[in-house]
Amino acid sequence: MCGALRPSDAGKRAVLMGWVNRRRDLGSIVFIDLRDRTGVTQVVVNRELNAPAHDKAGVLRNEYVIAVIGTVKQRDRDTVNKNIPTGEVELVVEELRLLNESKQPPFLPGETVLPNEEMRLKYRYIDLRRDAMQFNIEMRHKVSKAIRDYLCAEGFFEIETPFMTRSTPEGARDYLVPSRVQPGSFYALPQSPQMFKQILMISGFDKYFQIVRCFRDEDLRADRQPEFTQIDLEMSYPQTDTVWAVVEGFLTAAFKSAGHEIKTSFPRMSYDESIRRYGNDKPDMRLPAMADVREAMTREELDDFATKFKIRKDFPVQLIRIPKAGDISGTERRTIGTYGAYQHVQGPSFVQLMTDPKRFAKDYPAISEKIISFAKVDADDLWLLAAAKSEGPDQTAQHFCEKCGFLRLDLAQKYAAKHKAFEKTGDPAKDFRFLWVSDFPMFDWDKSEKRWNPAHHPFTTLHEEDMAKLEANIDSAHDPNSPLGEIRALAYDVVLNGTELGSGSIRIHRQDIQRKIFQALGMSDEEARARFGFFLEALEYGTPPHGGIALGLDRIVMILAGADSLREVIPFPKTARAVDLMVDAPTPVSDVQLRELGIKVVKS
Ligand code: ASP
Repeated sequence: MCGALRPSDAGKRAVLMGWVNRRRDLGSIVFIDLRDRTGVTQVVVNRELNAPAHDKAGVLRNEYVIAVIGTVKQRDRDTVNKNIPTGEVELVVEELRLLNESKQPPFLPGETVLPNEEMRLKYRYIDLRRDAMQFNIEMRHKVSKAIRDYLCAEGFFEIETPFMTRSTPEGARDYLVPSRVQPGSFYALPQSPQMFKQILMISGFDKYFQIVRCFRDEDLRADRQPEFTQIDLEMSYPQTDTVWAVVEGFLTAAFKSAGHEIKTSFPRMSYDESIRRYGNDKPDMRLPAMADVREAMTREELDDFATKFKIRKDFPVQLIRIPKAGDISGTERRTIGTYGAYQHVQGPSFVQLMTDPKRFAKDYPAISEKIISFAKVDADDLWLLAAAKSEGPDQTAQHFCEKCGFLRLDLAQKYAAKHKAFEKTGDPAKDFRFLWVSDFPMFDWDKSEKRWNPAHHPFTTLHEEDMAKLEANIDSAHDPNSPLGEIRALAYDVVLNGTELGSGSIRIHRQDIQRKIFQALGMSDEEARARFGFFLEALEYGTPPHGGIALGLDRIVMILAGADSLREVIPFPKTARAVDLMVDAPTPVSDVQLRELGIKVVKS
C-alpha cells in the first residue's frame, strides 16, 4: 500500500497502485505522489533509466489510476520529507501501467481549500478521497467495531428487525412505503426498532443489540438527518444500573478505539436537579453549575434583598459564572446586564441581571462577600445574578431556570471560548464529561393538542411510588394542571458535554399498567388496539421485565472525529432539505409506477 514503505524496505521490489495525487515534471525526471487509503509514496520515473515508463508518465494527470513496479530507495538526507511517514523513501519505477484515466475533477482531494458543501455532496466520491473524510469514515468503522465487539463479548446477540413495518411509538412523522399488492396500504419505515426489540425480550433473546438505521421525517435542523444510525439495545430483568453499566462499557471501548480514556461510572443526576442547576436536561458539566444564592442568605437578608430588587424570593436567585473569562471591562459587563443584550433569552422583563460585581460589592458589601464565597467565584470569573422580577409575567420556576440555562450557554459561547474546556475535539486530553440524567417526567403537556403526551414513549414505566398518583389522576389527560405532570418515569439519558447521546427506559411489562398509561394519555382501548394491537397482545404472553436504550452513532463519531456536522461522518448524507445531491433523490416517479401503486399525486 502507498503508506507502507520505510527505509528498512530499501532495495526491495514493490508494486504500488493508486491515484496520482500530484505530478512534478522536471524534464528528464517525473515525480509522482501516489496515493491510496493508507498514504502517499513518492514515485520517481527517470528517462535515462526507463524511457518507456517516462513517456507514459508524461500523460498522467491528477486522479489518474496507475500501477507501478519498482525498487525502494532510501532518499538522500536533504530530500527527506518529514511530513509523511513514507518520506524517507521513494520508489524508482521499472514499469508503469495506466489503469484508468480521470476527467479533471471539480476539486482535488489534496487541496486545502474546500469547495462549497453542495459541490462536495454532489461529487461525494471525490470528497470521500480527502484525508479528512478517509479519517472520519475509518473512525466510524473503528467505533462501530469496538461497540459490536464489546456487546458480543458481553453475550448480546445482534438481531435484525424489519425496515418495512408499521408506525412505531417515537412520535415523529413516518416515512411511508406504498404497497403494490394492497393498493392504498402503506408500510412505515421504523423510527426505531422499539416494539421489535421488546418483542425479542418476550421471545427469549434476553440481550439484544443492533447498530441500526432509523427514519424520522422531521423538519431538519442543522444537526439532524432523516435517516440516522442508532446503537440500539434491550435486556431482560435489568435494573437501571445494569443498562447503564453496559452503555458505559461500550462507550469506554468506543472512545478507546479513538485513543481516548474515559472514566466510569458516569455521575448521575435527576432531571429536577439538572433543570435547577443547569437550566436544561443535558447539562454541560465543563462549566460550573448555577448556584442558587438564596442558600447563602439568612431569611432577613433574603427578604431585604428581594424587596430592594423587586424580585421573587420563592424562585431561585441564580449566580451564573463563566470561569476565567479574562478581562472584561466594566462597560461590557454592564452591557450584558442591559435589557436587550440578551433579550432573546430573557424575554420581556423576565430576568433581572446584576452583572457589575464591583458596583454590587460597593452597594451590598456583606451579601456580595457571602455570595462570592458561597458560589466559589474567582477574581477573573465573569459572573452575574439572575432573578425573576416580582411583577414579571406569569411563569413557573422551571421556565425561569430554563431561561437562566440559555443565558449560561450563551455567555459560555462568547466568553468561555478561550477556556480550555471549550476547545475543539481531536485532542487526546479532551475533557469528556459524561453523565446520566434520570427520573424524567413521564408526561409532557402538548400545548397545541392540549393534552398530555408520553415524554419518552408510551412503553416506559414509572416510579413505583408514583403509581398512586397515576391512578388518582388517570382521567385528567386534558387538564394542563393535572398532577400527571409530576409523575416520574424510569427513563434516562446519557449526556456528554451538553449533548444528549442517547435515551432509554425500563419498560412496562404488565398489561394492566400499560392499559393505565394509555388511559392516562386519553387513548381509548380501541385506539390503543388499532395502533399497537399486536404489541399489546404479545405483552400478555409472559413478558419478562425488560429495559434498554438507544444511542446515536453518528453523533458519537462526530464528537470523536472532532467534526462539526453529522454530514462529515456519514458517507452519503442528505442536505438540510433531505436531498441526496449525488444520486438526486427524492425524484418524481413514472406514471406507470404510480398507477401500479394506485397512487395519484395531487400538486397543491
Ligand atoms: N426507541 C427509543 C428511541 O429511539 C430508545 C429506547 O427507549 O430504547 O428514542
